[in-house]
Amino acid sequence: MAKRDNFTPTTKKIMAERVAWRCSFPNCGKITIGPRMGENENDKSLNLGEAAHIVAAAEDGPRYDSNTTPEYRKSIDNGIWMCRAHARFIDTDYKEFSVETLRLWKLEAEEKAYRALSLQDNYQFSSKSTLIALGFEAVFEGTWEAVDKNEWTFKVKQFIEGNSSKLKDYADNYGSIDCNQKFISVVSQGDARVIQEPISIQYLDDGSELISVRIAPKVIASLPENSGMDFMLGEDGDIVLEGGDIKMVTGVDKAIQSISTAASMQYGEWFADRTAGSFIAQYYNKYKSNVALLNQLIKLEFIRLSLVPRTTSEGKLVKPPLNFIKEVKTANLKAIALKNSSTVVTLSLVLGNGDEWNGDQTVYIGT
Ligand SMILES: [Zn+2]
Repeated sequence: MAKRDNFTPTTKKIMAERVAWRCSFPNCGKITIGPRMGENENDKSLNLGEAAHIVAAAEDGPRYDSNTTPEYRKSIDNGIWMCRAHARFIDTDYKEFSVETLRLWKLEAEEKAYRALSLQDNYQFSSKSTLIALGFEAVFEGTWEAVDKNEWTFKVKQFIEGNSSKLKDYADNYGSIDCNQKFISVVSQGDARVIQEPISIQYLDDGSELISVRIAPKVIASLPENSGMDFMLGEDGDIVLEGGDIKMVTGVDKAIQSISTAASMQYGEWFADRTAGSFIAQYYNKYKSNVALLNQLIKLEFIRLSLVPRTTSEGKLVKPPLNFIKEVKTANLKAIALKNSSTVVTLSLVLGNGDEWNGDQTVYIGT
């Protein structure tokens, strides 16, 4: 059996206490501790909670990250307190919940527990929101409010693109909207899903929206080594020649090369299919003064290009252009200034074969 970096009893106890022994799963909050009942048990308590690992305790576990140290993996920062059902849910049934998403859930649970103490201080809680795109026209900051097997619920905090009425139109006219807009992509998850049914919006007393989305299962990523063959492209985007011959790329190299091509094609500009392309150039031009936001928007686009299938203008369902990517961990601009009308994005990805890939890709922005 692989070596496990387990939490100490003290770490577990403090982890539980910091959320008042309640489950940290969105909208669960189940109390996990109580009295043990029975003969000679009146001096014992019963604990039904579990200290779940965010980054797995062992190499074969969910969300394992070899870049973390054993000390980190057994530290309180790497734990989230949950009821047994939800600890199992995130570790076996739905292990695709990402490290970043679980961290947001933990912060949310700790804030709830702290607020329940009703102290009179003005502690500044760190942000628990993530960026979410719903189709092409609504992008908002939101928090995870509830999670079911195939339903995600978010509270809208602030719109970046679109507004409340756009969101309402999306829900009201769901049947007639372009099928390529029926997706949700979530920065904290590095993941996007096709939406299966009309979304529902609930209006809260404070005027904010709670949106619930029925999601399709995650698209299964392909193996990058099966990506076939293509001409090798140089940094300038031109075909590379070697001794008069055109150089070719195959497999993983071909897959990686296609990242730049897919990201550089602007949405709607390709005459043969107006449904192809990315919004990265548009986002760049609109948000370059706010790099933190721009990076998140670029990440959303890479997520969409990796995980959302597309219906072409001829009505054919095709795989996402970057189908060999399973998870987009980070996407960050290397510099804001353009060089040769292009920018460079540093990506951290999990590929369809489970391998991590970290590196730079050039994205054409234009002038
Ligand atoms: Zn729970």
